[in-house]
Amino acid sequence: MEAFTAGLISLDDALNTLLARITPVQQQETLSLADAAGRVTAGDVISPVDVPPFDNSAMDGYALRLADLTSGAPLPVAGKAFAGSPYSGEWPAGTCIRIMTGAPVPAGCEAVVMQEQTEQIGNAIRVTAAVSDGQNIRRVGEDIRQGTRVLSGGIKLGAAELPLLASLGVAQVSVLRKLRVALFSTGDELQPVGQPLAAGQIYDTNRFAVQLMLNKLGCEAIDLGIIRDDPAALRAAFIEADSRADVVISSGGVSVGEADYTRSILEELGEVGFWKLAMKPGKPFAFGRLPHSWFCGLPGNPVSAVVTFYQLVQPLLSKLSGQLAPALPPRQRARCTTALKKSPGRLDFQRGVVQRNAAGELEVSSTGHQGSHIFSSFHQANCFIVLEQDRGNVNAGEWVEIEPFNALLEG
Ligand code: AMP
Ligand code: MG
Repeated sequence: MEAFTAGLISLDDALNTLLARITPVQQQETLSLADAAGRVTAGDVISPVDVPPFDNSAMDGYALRLADLTSGAPLPVAGKAFAGSPYSGEWPAGTCIRIMTGAPVPAGCEAVVMQEQTEQIGNAIRVTAAVSDGQNIRRVGEDIRQGTRVLSGGIKLGAAELPLLASLGVAQVSVLRKLRVALFSTGDELQPVGQPLAAGQIYDTNRFAVQLMLNKLGCEAIDLGIIRDDPAALRAAFIEADSRADVVISSGGVSVGEADYTRSILEELGEVGFWKLAMKPGKPFAFGRLPHSWFCGLPGNPVSAVVTFYQLVQPLLSKLSGQLAPALPPRQRARCTTALKKSPGRLDFQRGVVQRNAAGELEVSSTGHQGSHIFSSFHQANCFIVLEQDRGNVNAGEWVEIEPFNALLEG
């Protein structure tokens, strides 16, 4: 891997480098629909049936033959067709069949007239509106033809896809295997929640955040706990993580402090791809290769850890899991109602609250203090305010770009 040594690299370059390196997992398994939620299709899914499976009525009304309308005489009702119980009796000329939505149309039916466009005359009806050939008939295969592709490979299966497969009677689907991701936090100051804090200690936020996000993305998370700032312990954690996972994610220890060993151990065991991004928060982010896995070193500050996970690790895992190339996240222009502090030099992901004002325009405001230790800013926010690398301070009333949070940061 070509190492980047010069200065900070842009988020776009970092993403391009990382995505160009990653190739999706290959191993497949066949799962029932219920077990396949959140998994990625391993190949095309072909429809075994026509949808709808037969011509059927789109309305509650009457099934007709057009020739029977020419005389204008009332049409006696010769029978009834319900969804699930077709009419299969004789259908004499000059009569109609009462029909309900979803019922198969009787053989010879050329149109269904809705009941609101008829007038009841004893056991007969008269049609009170013009009738056109084929009206209110849903045709066999109109939605999906037997033998056509309903899903391609690389599709994450969720509430839009799995019911579609169920509607085709497809009970099992071939999917790619789950990703295994090992994670650990580094730092002598960290304590797991539930333990009392001694002087100078803080709770480990990042491992919890990363685990939740991995669960949300459908990965199997392998939690290796808190690793002390000790090169031997860290090396052992790297080796164990690499032996068990497709991706190893650490947090902390990627700055330039004296106890920041992550980078040197990555260099020793594998290769550094890049380290240090021109983005804020999140400058110290390391990406690299270990003998059996990819490595992402998140910054220690919790806000930076989550922003870099969101912006870099999320697309990495998406590609590795076999999902089709994700479109760039949608960004929109919004009027910023608060002044924002920004110094030129890095792409800035501030946390903001976007809403529509009374005139229907998007307005965004800052959640306030943007320090990379202010984790509550995520809870208050619903979007990133993305400020270009070269931009300086933003005055209230200026236009900015916003990127709405995706499901990763939702409850
Ligand atoms: P580092 O990159 O290890 O120098 O950490 C930068 C800052 O983030 C320091 O203030 C650390 O105490 C803090 N930090 C590192 N890891 C975590 C963590 N897992 N949870 C909360 N804060 C952390
Ligand atoms: Mg540290």
